[in-house]
Amino acid sequence: MKNFTICILPGDGIGPEIMGQALKILKTVEKIYELKINLFSGVIGGIAIDLYNTPLPEATLKLCLNCNAILLGSVGGPKWDKLSPAKRPERGGLLKLRKELGLYANLRPVMLLNSLENISPLSFKENSGKIDLITVRELSSGIYFGEPKKISNNIGIDTMIYREDEIKKIAEIAFKIALKRRKKVCSVDKANVLNSSVLWRKTVSDVSKKYPTVKTEHLYIDNAAMQLILNPSRFDVILASNLFGDIISDESAALTNSLGMLPSASLGDKINLFEPAGGSAPDIAGKNIANPIAQILSVAMMFEYSYGRKDISDHIYTSVKHLIEKNIRTIDIRSDIKNPVSTETFGDLICEEMFKNS
Ligand code: NAD
Repeated sequence: MKNFTICILPGDGIGPEIMGQALKILKTVEKIYELKINLFSGVIGGIAIDLYNTPLPEATLKLCLNCNAILLGSVGGPKWDKLSPAKRPERGGLLKLRKELGLYANLRPVMLLNSLENISPLSFKENSGKIDLITVRELSSGIYFGEPKKISNNIGIDTMIYREDEIKKIAEIAFKIALKRRKKVCSVDKANVLNSSVLWRKTVSDVSKKYPTVKTEHLYIDNAAMQLILNPSRFDVILASNLFGDIISDESAALTNSLGMLPSASLGDKINLFEPAGGSAPDIAGKNIANPIAQILSVAMMFEYSYGRKDISDHIYTSVKHLIEKNIRTIDIRSDIKNPVSTETFGDLICEEMFKNS
């Protein structure tokens, strides 16, 4: 078992507020499970630009490289929007950090609790299936990184490249995750048009032979996007390239109607990074109303994926679920609640719930 050595990067906007609640959860886990968790904190994004004139200071990168997991809030905001893209919090901070750490797999689980079905934009009366799926997105290759990539003589060029080993690596992750879930992988591509997708489909099929208990299907991305609306419950693990995964994971996130509840994990060979799926929500920053669930469930994912502690992860998930079922919610979760709780109160109540369930 690795030491729990975690780098905390609160970032900008609501980042520090929701990270505050994640820190309470870590303290609670320390007490309940009698663990020692070593925390280090650094700056990234807009706050780092203000303090050190760079969105990713060397000291932050060094700190991250010395930890085995990173918990990030969010970066960016209107204050830094006028900077050139390379100097902005997102590209110069977060994307650079992901690249430096070699994070190649992005996992985004989406689960709609029964008690929240009424907030989904889909009608579950006719379509009574459950939504419980996870997107496994390749994060370090594909059209976002392929060369040539330029605008020249009024022609914009991007290059979609996938190598067999890159596809194998991400497919292995998807199948291993499926083994622990409902044992279904749906790989999405555009193999009717794109050569990189032809190779993608063939390689995923080859990998699937190692996992005979997992049911594998291949869908074209356009069909998958449609099926996700028509019948979301058919999906368990969705495996996708960088571009298609970016789109399909946001589409699946929209099914819950609340960005503030969705965590994510970005995995590398040595270090993993965990963060909410949403951004820095500058419109509500500093008001103590942001939903801390995405950040708290990012802590749960960290215990599962970085430390193999599914027991702690389940404990956090269950406590969040109990609170939601008791109608304790922040204001972003549209439902009939009369007294929404604040970010701070929600964090405190989750900790109480964890002690009750321990
Ligand atoms: P956003 O995700 O920050 O906000 C979209 C909407 O969702 C807003 O109305 C916001 O209030 C709401 N929302 C998001 N998280 C919430 C939470 N936890 N609780 C309650 N409501 C929540 O997206 P945006 O407005 O497009 O972007 C704002 C900034 O965040 C931009 O600078 C963008 O570049 C940055 N961003 C950062 C990340 C990241 O750090 N990973 C990701 C996406 C966007």
